[in-house]
Amino acid sequence: MPKNSVLGFPRIGEKRELKFALERFWSGQSDFDAVEAVADELKKRHWNYQLDAGIELISCNDFSYYDLMLDTTILLGAIPERFRDISEPTALYFAMARGDKTHTAMQMTKWFNTNYHYIVPELTATTTYALNTEKVLREFEEAKAAGVSNPKVNLIGPITYLGLSKSDDIDPFEHFDKVLALYETLLKHLDEAGVEYVQIDEPYFTKDVEQKMLSLLKIAYDRLGNVSNNIKLIVTTYFNHSCEATNVLVHTPVYGLGLDFVYGEKNLESLDAIAISSKQLFAGVVDGRNVWRNDIEKTLQFLETITQHIEREKITIATSCSLLHTPYTLKYEEKLESEIKSWLAFGLEKLDEVNLITEQFFKEPLSPKEQEAYSQNIRANISRKHSKTIHDEAVQKRIATALIVERDTPYAKRIQVQRETLGYKDLSTTTIGSFPQTPELRQTRRDYKKGAITQDQYELVMKKYIDECVAFQESVGLDVLVHGEPERNDMVEYFGEMLKGFAFTQNGWVQSYGSRCVKPPLIFGDVSRPKAMTVSWSAYAQSKTQKHMKGMLTGPVTILNWSFVRDDKSRDEVAKQIAVAISDEVDDLQKAGIKIIQVDEAAFKEGYPLRNEQINDYEKWALESFKISVASAEATTQIHTHMCYSDFNDIIHTIEAMDADVITIETARSGNRLLKIFKEAGYKQEVGPGIYDIHSPRVPSVEEMVAQIKALQEVLPQKQLWINPDCGLKTRKWDEVKPSLQNMVEAVNIVRREATY
Ligand code: GLN
Ligand code: ZN
Repeated sequence: MPKNSVLGFPRIGEKRELKFALERFWSGQSDFDAVEAVADELKKRHWNYQLDAGIELISCNDFSYYDLMLDTTILLGAIPERFRDISEPTALYFAMARGDKTHTAMQMTKWFNTNYHYIVPELTATTTYALNTEKVLREFEEAKAAGVSNPKVNLIGPITYLGLSKSDDIDPFEHFDKVLALYETLLKHLDEAGVEYVQIDEPYFTKDVEQKMLSLLKIAYDRLGNVSNNIKLIVTTYFNHSCEATNVLVHTPVYGLGLDFVYGEKNLESLDAIAISSKQLFAGVVDGRNVWRNDIEKTLQFLETITQHIEREKITIATSCSLLHTPYTLKYEEKLESEIKSWLAFGLEKLDEVNLITEQFFKEPLSPKEQEAYSQNIRANISRKHSKTIHDEAVQKRIATALIVERDTPYAKRIQVQRETLGYKDLSTTTIGSFPQTPELRQTRRDYKKGAITQDQYELVMKKYIDECVAFQESVGLDVLVHGEPERNDMVEYFGEMLKGFAFTQNGWVQSYGSRCVKPPLIFGDVSRPKAMTVSWSAYAQSKTQKHMKGMLTGPVTILNWSFVRDDKSRDEVAKQIAVAISDEVDDLQKAGIKIIQVDEAAFKEGYPLRNEQINDYEKWALESFKISVASAEATTQIHTHMCYSDFNDIIHTIEAMDADVITIETARSGNRLLKIFKEAGYKQEVGPGIYDIHSPRVPSVEEMVAQIKALQEVLPQKQLWINPDCGLKTRKWDEVKPSLQNMVEAVNIVRREATY
């Protein structure tokens, strides 16, 4: 019986080697051989790390040049029709991932509730399949050659694959039989190659599923489990519990079940069923998607409760999910405070945790080094519980008091007052906050951080940029202005750096999609705001114009959802702490004469839980947190919020309950379908539906935008409408932004003139 197992290892490289190799190749600076050389090196290194750490079941086929769902599409040969003209495999692969001159890329979307994005399979009635085992078999051989004696082959399961596919003309499960037959053949090939362990991921079952899916699950694993007596299938789920699926799988001939006990505690309810079936339990007890050190004593206690149901030998110690979602290692972190660092474990450190837990659980003797690591673990967890750096009584006291959630004046009244005092017209024009980030701005921010320039020099450059933004906005005639956000490189990092309770890594990169990585802040302690964060910039910008300058903040839910959050407090409580800090900023802004304040909640939707049973709870605290963050606004202060996506169908009432005076949203790509939802819901507040897509370099014409505005007026009364682009402009160039906004204002003027006849 394998004593331990790691569900997958990150592949981008601890110094993002794969990213840089890919980007050199894409820009034509190298050939693909160079990328392959880097990939081979990384795979070997990652296998060796796991061997050295004493991991018994080590994955292969967890590497990818871009994405594992895309790799599965290649494995099954389910190439969408429009790519059929590309015969060269590498060109085909990257055209599917990223598009090329003549092919639009496949769609990309979030992998469950993580910030990782996968390439969505596109299936049609005419999709043909053809098994392509080359990559899987190659990685198996490579792993063996690297010294992994019995590599575990990782696969994405057939139901998860189909369940995450999209199709315009069929239900993807119409292809279930075909696809399942391919998996059977694949397992036969793996058997012939000498594969013993296959981890087959079915995270689809951590969402709520229909009965039909459970029937398909039974059919699938009855068949796959019977392909070979030599292959041990481990069906694995993660990110939540999968009790319904477990109840089915225990009656199929699979070898083991991988369950997440960090984010799916309810899996405990399945223990007896697993025990009766005598399946091997792969117990995910080391958090694969957060950065905190495991509390090994607590984990061992937890495992002992499992042994009351399942014999020790039937338990394999595992990570809760692939380590893809954590940064690589702490070893290059030189700037983190040592106390904070001692509370953390990234990928490599988690391997050691898995090993230590295994040795303790199976009562194996510890080497002196391991003994020391174990004592250190105990010490660090005690220090974390009591540290003054984390626990701030003043913050806790404030959160414990009755926080103000509601604004003083109800919306209907507020909006009247605001219309009078702010004096804005119907169809007022504005933008979402940022203006193009130039290389000069980036360089200046870097220089300032390094201490290469003084604060005065830094401010001079920023203010000059703000001056230019203001002058430009006045010259085109926009109604409500923004300062342009030159001082921010990222809408979360900027606030995190100013707030207490946040820490930043130098190298804590996590893959977001393809070669793109993000470096989320760590929220390690109670959050508070030592001083105002944006007031001086906004006040400066306001002093340069007679028009209204919009203050610009990031909301508590978004800050939370884009960070690694402490695991010793509920997300609810952390969000409230951030909310209180933001509400102080709102108050300071209004005191400084800012009359309109936007609080962005770009990641509000992202935080939704996988299980319906958890949605009420999330909506309750997320909504409350947003409301707390703006409750300090007086009736005359207008609160805007912004969300850059369009799937509001199921959350429209929650959006309305946020009680913002104005919401700006993405509609440019989804047309007026979205707006209709607002209409149907009887949405009362004002709305700024983005009238052009900022993700494209194209400059929309005046006529086009006139038509778009008129289409909006068909759905919502003009009194309720603002006119703006659909997101911030920081990724665009000035020579795209200038004519686009000019045309936008011109379009509004035309519509206004026509209306006065
Ligand atoms: N105010 C931010 C900006 O304009 C909003 C960004 C976002 O919604 N992602 O850049
Ligand atoms: Zn946006």
